[in-house]
Amino acid sequence: MGGNRTFTMIKPDAMGNACAGKIIDHIINNGFTLKAMKLVHLSKEQASEFYAVHKERPFYSGLVDFMSSGPIIAAVLEGENAVESFRTLIGATNPEEADEGTIRKLYAEDIGRNAVHGSDSDENAGIEAGFFFSAFEQV
Ligand code: UDP
Ligand code: MG
Repeated sequence: MGGNRTFTMIKPDAMGNACAGKIIDHIINNGFTLKAMKLVHLSKEQASEFYAVHKERPFYSGLVDFMSSGPIIAAVLEGENAVESFRTLIGATNPEEADEGTIRKLYAEDIGRNAVHGSDSDENAGIEAGFFFSAFEQV
């Protein structure tokens, strides 16, 4: 069983679609508690750094352009077995493959513009939360 915290972002597509409130509601209604939250507009440099693990992938430059194209909401979430249970809640990377009722199935446009981020391990959750929030900003 994993730890009790994960990190998420509501991506620019969902921000532009007026879906952010519905997504936050969905997350809270599924048992997660907000531990930190902020609205930010990443620079290209910041988005490149956040997604550096993908820098050799063909989608990297499109991903960096997209993630710096408008504001996002970054948040730290608490919940039981948070990383795995949040990945289940958001659904597959490609919304066409996401289960019914998942956030990506409900709100994502395509594999690139897929509404939300969810950390993939406890270690990355800590690193990603630290990218946006100091320890004092996480309640
Ligand atoms: N992505 C993309 N094309 C792909 C795979 C991924 O544009 O073929 C984007 C998508 O926004 C995804 C992000 O890159 O959320 C990170 O990819 P990852 O494989 O880590 O997916 P995730 O963990 O977000 O499900
Ligand atoms: Mg990932």
